[in-house]
Amino acid sequence: MTEQATTPSTTLDRTPDPEFLWALQSYVMESGRLLVVEVDRDGRIIDSNLTFRSRFAGFASVRGEPLSRFLSSGSGELLDIEPGLPRRTPVARVFQTPLGGETYLFHAYPSGRGIVLIGELANVAESDIVERMGNLAMEMSRLVRDLRNTNRELVLANETNQALARTDPLTSLANRRYFMDRLENGIARARIGGAPLSLIMVDLDHFKQVNDRFGHAGGDLVLVAFAGLLESQVRGVDLAARLGGEEFAVVMAEADLRVAGDVADRLRMRLADLRPLDASYRVTASFGVAERRPEEDADALLGRADDLLYLAKRSGRNQVVLEPAAAVSDRP
Ligand code: GH3
Ligand code: MG
Ligand code: MG
Repeated sequence: MTEQATTPSTTLDRTPDPEFLWALQSYVMESGRLLVVEVDRDGRIIDSNLTFRSRFAGFASVRGEPLSRFLSSGSGELLDIEPGLPRRTPVARVFQTPLGGETYLFHAYPSGRGIVLIGELANVAESDIVERMGNLAMEMSRLVRDLRNTNRELVLANETNQALARTDPLTSLANRRYFMDRLENGIARARIGGAPLSLIMVDLDHFKQVNDRFGHAGGDLVLVAFAGLLESQVRGVDLAARLGGEEFAVVMAEADLRVAGDVADRLRMRLADLRPLDASYRVTASFGVAERRPEEDADALLGRADDLLYLAKRSGRNQVVLEPAAAVSDRP
């Protein structure tokens, strides 16, 4: 360590007076003359700013070059900066161009990869202002970094909130609100593009008896198992949702009544293999399937699918009821 009288170690002044800061900021912003160069422990350049490259290399890349090609410290020892310095403690160093033509004052800061040097062509009397400029630049990069991190956290928190707001907590399926949004969007798109859109409504049969026999927790297990089956059977473009209680729905874009009816049939058959509680209990469900008619909105379509579902209930449950085939023929 060759600490020289003219190059003292100083710490960041935490409360600079506003006038000084203002002058400093104008200087940094308007002059654009601040040199920044990052070197590794062997004194090779890792990174540099445009000002540095324009001053010493005619804008050419200097990565990998030894800093001593452009600047060297009077002591001959390139970077006698104690490793492990506290981050906020800069060290002032005088550098000269190889032919001794110009004197630069830099302030050095430990960085993750080596040392960051921030400085300016200066005489040693200006040490204080150059150091403060260096501090300000470092402080700015810290602020930018913190701001980016905060933004990232806010975006993540926002995405999490949005996901929670549209998810049913028990089954992790979409909830009714998100389902209605998607249904309305799907209908708007179908209106423009003329593609078909179908809806499957499902209600588990005699669910009250499941709760009576296995308890509410048992009933919940059945709901979760059924949700898993729904998820596994619908395409990525479809949306399965729990509308409430033991009532579920699937909105199927670009699917006509036949396709949606096949999906409902398959679901009903797969249910026969589902044994979420004990082997003696078989889950069954009733299904109402409707394809959107021209000019039909979300509520009208839902109402019609619901009517078909209750027709399935009245006809003995554990079955799929489609709208009468004739009704679809008025599709353009
Ligand atoms: P149906 O075949 O006519 O549909 O008969 P059901 O017994 O399924 O219909 P009902 O509407 O009479 O009863 C629904 C039951 O679903 C009543 C309620 O206790 C139960 N239920 C609603 N939400 C939940 C829930 O989140 N968890 C559990 N375990 N049970 C629920
Ligand atoms: Mg039911
Ligand atoms: Mg019900």
